[in-house]
Amino acid sequence: MEHPTVIAGAGIAGLCAGLSLADRCPLLLADWKTPEAASAAVIAGLANPVIPRRGNLVWRSEAALDALDEVARQLGVAPLQPGVLRIATSWDQMDAYRARAASHGHLFTWHPPAASKAQWPWLLAPHGTLELHRGGSFDLPTLLQAGLRNLESRGASVRRDWRLTGWTESADSVIAEFVGPDGPRTFPCSRLILSLGGGFQHFEDLTQLKLSCVKGQLISVIAPDRPPDLRPVSVGGYVVPLDNRVVIGSSYQHSFDDPLPENALTEELLEKVSRHLPWLRGAQVDAAHAGVRVTVPGTRLPMVGPLPGHTRTWVLTGMASRGLLMGPLIGSLLPGWLEDPGTISSEVAVRIR
Ligand SMILES: Cc1cc2nc3c(=O)[nH]c(=O)nc-3n(C[C@H](O)[C@H](O)[C@H](O)COP(=O)(O)OP(=O)(O)OC[C@H]3O[C@@H](n4cnc5c(N)ncnc54)[C@H](O)[C@@H]3O)c2cc1C
Repeated sequence: MEHPTVIAGAGIAGLCAGLSLADRCPLLLADWKTPEAASAAVIAGLANPVIPRRGNLVWRSEAALDALDEVARQLGVAPLQPGVLRIATSWDQMDAYRARAASHGHLFTWHPPAASKAQWPWLLAPHGTLELHRGGSFDLPTLLQAGLRNLESRGASVRRDWRLTGWTESADSVIAEFVGPDGPRTFPCSRLILSLGGGFQHFEDLTQLKLSCVKGQLISVIAPDRPPDLRPVSVGGYVVPLDNRVVIGSSYQHSFDDPLPENALTEELLEKVSRHLPWLRGAQVDAAHAGVRVTVPGTRLPMVGPLPGHTRTWVLTGMASRGLLMGPLIGSLLPGWLEDPGTISSEVAVRIR
């Protein structure tokens, strides 16, 4: 009998890989919640393909939006709210965003300052607003739970408390080592896919990869003056309505001692977005969440492929601050790449330090 493919790490990357593979091979998804797990922190985040500085679009942005739509459809999970308002913060950005709306009219509408003010009086946007019609805000933990249930219903095994501790690859299999509630165990697999997010740091073999960690924090607040027509906003950070709360993300820390939330960052986040959404000033902080994003310095794109010197042990990481778009996109491409690793796009191939 064919050994299963094992995916270690059930954040958005591992989940989307599982959703694409579940009908093609026996599958086991094993996750163990680490303090740095990023997907678990994103109680509301944005699927937004715009790179703020010049309004450029992320790699394969429309395919990524399509892939996210497909995952959401498959799981029956709608965005919290569709679309995103991206505020221009300078004259240069105003020109760049206006040009982006002109070249991609099917994705964007440009709202000059007066039009933006008339439509969204609660938004200070003296350089105008770029309205994205696709993407939107998502509750990532809810998406993950729906995804794991979907995988189980399709016959995949899901272990929510198995910690990967090591692996050994041979010519015809990989032996994955886990610690679960019943103690240590080994598990033979035909392939092992490592989608561990920040958990990669605990494996010497993975620290040779060209990856770095960026801590991020978001907060939720109760804002008494919240406008009834509040929509997801991106402005140096992001603001997303979530039930009776407003979620504000997110910070970027390249050096940090631990992955836990910090009070000073909570205040910084609130202050930063209040410049454009002044009704947030004085909002009452409800909770703070933090996690670790994994980025690939130089490309800022995901990293996918067999580990150097391996054929059956793959890494799937580097979702950086765009897991909601890159997770579904890479998941949709993965089956073909596993079939023929020579077809992996060079932009996302495995890089070592
Ligand atoms: C504050 C913050 C805000 C963000 N906002 C957005 C946003 O608005 N939009 C967006 O697209 N992205 C956002 N991101 C980024 C997004 O969260 C990441 O891109 C995404 O979560 C990465 O997914 P991943 O599956 O690679 O890693 P993770 O989400 O970190 O998942 C890895 C999983 O592997 C598990 N694991 C680790 N080690 C082991 C082990 N040894 N054994 C078993 N399991 C293990 C972890 O517990 C975790 O469940 C944000 C991130 C942060 C921190």
